[in-house]
Amino acid sequence: KDFRNNVKPNWCPGCGDFSVQAAIQRAAANVGVVPEELAVVSGIGCSGRISGYINSYGLHGIHGRSLPIAQGVKMANREMTVIASGGDGDGFAIGMGHTVHAIRRNIDVTYIVMDNQIYGLTKGQTSPRSAMGFKTKSTPAGSIETSLNVMELALTAGATFVAQSFSSDLKELTSLIEKGIEHKGFSLINVFSPCVTFNKINTYDWFKENLVSLGTIEDYNPNNRMSAMNTLMEYNGLVTGLIYQDTEKKSYEDMVHGFKEEGLSKQNIELEHDQFEDLVAEFM
Ligand code: SF4
Repeated sequence: KDFRNNVKPNWCPGCGDFSVQAAIQRAAANVGVVPEELAVVSGIGCSGRISGYINSYGLHGIHGRSLPIAQGVKMANREMTVIASGGDGDGFAIGMGHTVHAIRRNIDVTYIVMDNQIYGLTKGQTSPRSAMGFKTKSTPAGSIETSLNVMELALTAGATFVAQSFSSDLKELTSLIEKGIEHKGFSLINVFSPCVTFNKINTYDWFKENLVSLGTIEDYNPNNRMSAMNTLMEYNGLVTGLIYQDTEKKSYEDMVHGFKEEGLSKQNIELEHDQFEDLVAEFM
């Protein structure tokens, strides 16, 4: 099925988010999802527009809140494939509380972060992913804060699927999104997606020079959390590929009593009159 619609993205020419959109569309088609079974929920920022550019159910939510909405969609109808998406500011600043708890909850949602190390929509301020010393309008003398290493943080929060990619490597990105969709639990995919307009440091060339593919590291084992953590620390988080996957841990919805077989939208919630009165009495 075709996940393209007739809405023309208004991202700047060359923005990394174009590739992320294409990768989601290809990955969904490759794993056999149909548009009626896919929901894309996004937050606020340039990347937040992505939910309107894909032929699926879509919801452009509020700042930092794509994950609560996406988790609600999954709980209501577990037959849906649910993708949450947004930028590094959306997910790792205002939305960080939701990100950490969604990770440890392990609900079956694929979270794709378009990480450009800057706030693009508001014309270029430092984000939690900007490097120390990074100069922007909000930090003219250079950022004095440490950049957040989100991949390490995800591992310590109990993540069951952690991956990272680069928007210009469409093949790898598509493959990782496919794996994320197929993973039974929460999958975090951080994508280096350059902001060509406001970030003149972390450019396509910069990433090509600095990223290391995990495929080039001999005997790398994505099922070993300690090895994943050591590798992230050794390369300062600048790696691409499947960093870690745990296929044993059950997903949240598989463990919630009453939701195991079917989501809320499929359950019979009709109440007899006296049951309704009892329910109301409980809250009086
Ligand atoms: Fe992309 Fe940056 Fe333009 Fe936003 S401002 S659309 S992030 S290039």
